Amino acid sequence: MPTPVKLFSRLVISIFILALSACASDKTAPAPKSATQPALRLYVFNCGEIEVLDISVFQPGIDKGKHKTLTDSCYLVVHPKGTMMWDTGLPDALAQKPEGMTFMNTFVMRMPKTLASQLKEIGYAPESIDKLGVSHFHGDHVGNVGLFPKSQLLVQKEEYAAAFGTEPGKYGFDPTSYASLKSNHVKTLDGDYDVFGDGAVVIKRMVGHTPGHQALFLKLPKTGNILLSGDLTHYTDNWEHKRVPSFNFNKEQSIKSMEDTEKFLKDNHAMLWIQHDLEQNSGIKHVPAYYE
Ligand SMILES: [Zn+2]
Repeated sequence: MPTPVKLFSRLVISIFILALSACASDKTAPAPKSATQPALRLYVFNCGEIEVLDISVFQPGIDKGKHKTLTDSCYLVVHPKGTMMWDTGLPDALAQKPEGMTFMNTFVMRMPKTLASQLKEIGYAPESIDKLGVSHFHGDHVGNVGLFPKSQLLVQKEEYAAAFGTEPGKYGFDPTSYASLKSNHVKTLDGDYDVFGDGAVVIKRMVGHTPGHQALFLKLPKTGNILLSGDLTHYTDNWEHKRVPSFNFNKEQSIKSMEDTEKFLKDNHAMLWIQHDLEQNSGIKHVPAYYE
């Protein structure tokens, strides 16, 4: 029979070994599961670069033939009740082509670092992400939706209908780029949607760029309130002048969404983070850093 002292020392040793193995596993284990995550967190990824050979497509009649480089951002929101990707950028496969790929003779697209590798860097497996919000179905936002087959897709009903309807090309959509989404569990939205029910992560219906375009509002306790733009606007100068790109689905809706957003930002003391704005994003922390 072991004495009480021996039992106690065995217990201490066992706890010590458990603690050691916990320390060791921390280095390789995924980041803490969302259920134990204490606060809201926002990770920002670089999900591609887009060199625009003629910037006047974004600002009709102005600076014809001039080049401008845009970035392509995507995000991971970690909430105590779950995780959500917001947009997925250009396809990771582009990383194999350092020279990039030219689209419509106007856009040269590159992927300096894959989204998959950036998620791995912060310890999140794509299959573990609960929800997938995409601002819209253009190829620079749905490029990696195939990484998230188990996530619930959150999309406005008009966007879903346009993407899976008979004329996706009419809206600038390429069905091969998001074919995998047919198998995702989908929640179609009809307006704004409070993702986790506490007002901290809210999808905002901001149509015009595409039939069901949406933006994402976040209430971060330390950083403050942020609206992730989707393609409501593409860079600061266009935002300030409320210019509408020539390829937008509906000009009047686009202008109304920008005006509504301006009021919303004021009412909620929120910052507008423009997802494609290279200059603005150079001042924003990217993974592995995060915002709280
Ligand atoms: Zn875009």
